[in-house]
Amino acid sequence: MKAAIYTFGCKQNYAESSALARQLEQLGYAIVPFGDDADVVVVNTCTVTETADRECHKIVRRALRRSPHAAIVVTGCYAQLHPEAIARMDGVRLVVGNAEKHALGELLERALTTDRPIVECSDDLRSRDVAFVPAAFSEHDSRTRAFLKLQDGCDYSCSFCTIPHARGKSRSMPFDEISHHVERLTKAGYREIVLTGINLGEYRSPTGERLLDVLELLVSLDLGCRFRLSSVEPNRMHPDIVEFIAEHPQVCPHFHMPLQSGSPEILRRMRRRYKRELYAERVHRIKELMPHACIGADVLTGFPGETDRHFEETYAFIASLPISYLHVFTYSERERTDAAHYHDRVPLRVRKERTARLRQLGENKRRDFYQSNVGVRLTVLVESYDVAAGGWVGYSENYCRVVVPDATEGEAVEVAIERFDGALLRAAAHSTRPSQPHYIALPVVA
Ligand code: SF4
Repeated sequence: MKAAIYTFGCKQNYAESSALARQLEQLGYAIVPFGDDADVVVVNTCTVTETADRECHKIVRRALRRSPHAAIVVTGCYAQLHPEAIARMDGVRLVVGNAEKHALGELLERALTTDRPIVECSDDLRSRDVAFVPAAFSEHDSRTRAFLKLQDGCDYSCSFCTIPHARGKSRSMPFDEISHHVERLTKAGYREIVLTGINLGEYRSPTGERLLDVLELLVSLDLGCRFRLSSVEPNRMHPDIVEFIAEHPQVCPHFHMPLQSGSPEILRRMRRRYKRELYAERVHRIKELMPHACIGADVLTGFPGETDRHFEETYAFIASLPISYLHVFTYSERERTDAAHYHDRVPLRVRKERTARLRQLGENKRRDFYQSNVGVRLTVLVESYDVAAGGWVGYSENYCRVVVPDATEGEAVEVAIERFDGALLRAAAHSTRPSQPHYIALPVVA
């Protein structure tokens, strides 16, 4: 029996797909790449944008074209919010909500014995306590970097966001389980562990530990691997976290802080929990302590009521800050959000124009940031040989893609950056750090 998994969305979803793959393996399924003939196809969905919703329908149709007799299982955030609509799609045998994902194996066995699609999806996760389910994954082209889910759900109520409905209340991995998971990953050969969460800055273990306690624990384990934070809200990127990272090279100087808008009015309407002054303060403090730190930001264009003046405020605010890259998203109306009911919608054409302008600004910032690393010594975790780049490629601690002339996969090498070729940083011959990775693959999904 064969099963394939297709995953949309964030690193969290990928980590959870890895856990789904393990459940399927326990039932005796061999995991095959999506697109191969399979008896079961699991689609792990996302609902961040309208496009993500549409893509889910497309992928289900594509899966059925390849494997017309496959049982289709749809889970994830889109499934959580629209279970009945998904159950009506051709070929769908099972719809599993986010709170029920951990029981996928059991549910699948039941679904395969009935003719009608089964929908197992709890209502309104915001009002229920949902257990934290740990998960980890690594990208299929790399055995060097693993993503470990530490937190799930969100208690905030940003007016544009459906995530709290789709994932429920904030919950976190128990503090005393963290070292077990991290040791397992390092024993499997991973040299970098990215800590992920839906709202990672809200990590709070059942025994009260917070994100800084996690970092202190990880550094104290002394496992010879480095750690990286995924996205942390600016209001949660406390100065003590920034100072700790500045003092501990085991934690990468890479900060991804969602901004969403640089206009005070729009930030208020979005119900974000910070003012732009706080954002700027965080950015400057990071750069003061770590001049080569990488700082990334998410921005949303075309939020209802965003006038040209608001947009120009955002543009000028970002332009004035030493931000290293941008992830720019175009606002789309999402059901169950307050913003969907705001009447002052921005025409689609204008939203797209603003997205294009900010993407260009983001690209300029990325290039400036890369250029600023020429002459700096960085530690690159080598992932793979890239024929087009003509060398070994990996990420530096400050999240630059670097080409190293001679290395081996999984090596951490300290290099001097010679030049920026317009796309990647180019390193001179390196001095290698001791490195004997021992590879035991974790379940990895496409
Ligand atoms: S912080 Fe806001 S945008 Fe982020 S998941 Fe929570 S509600 Fe959504």
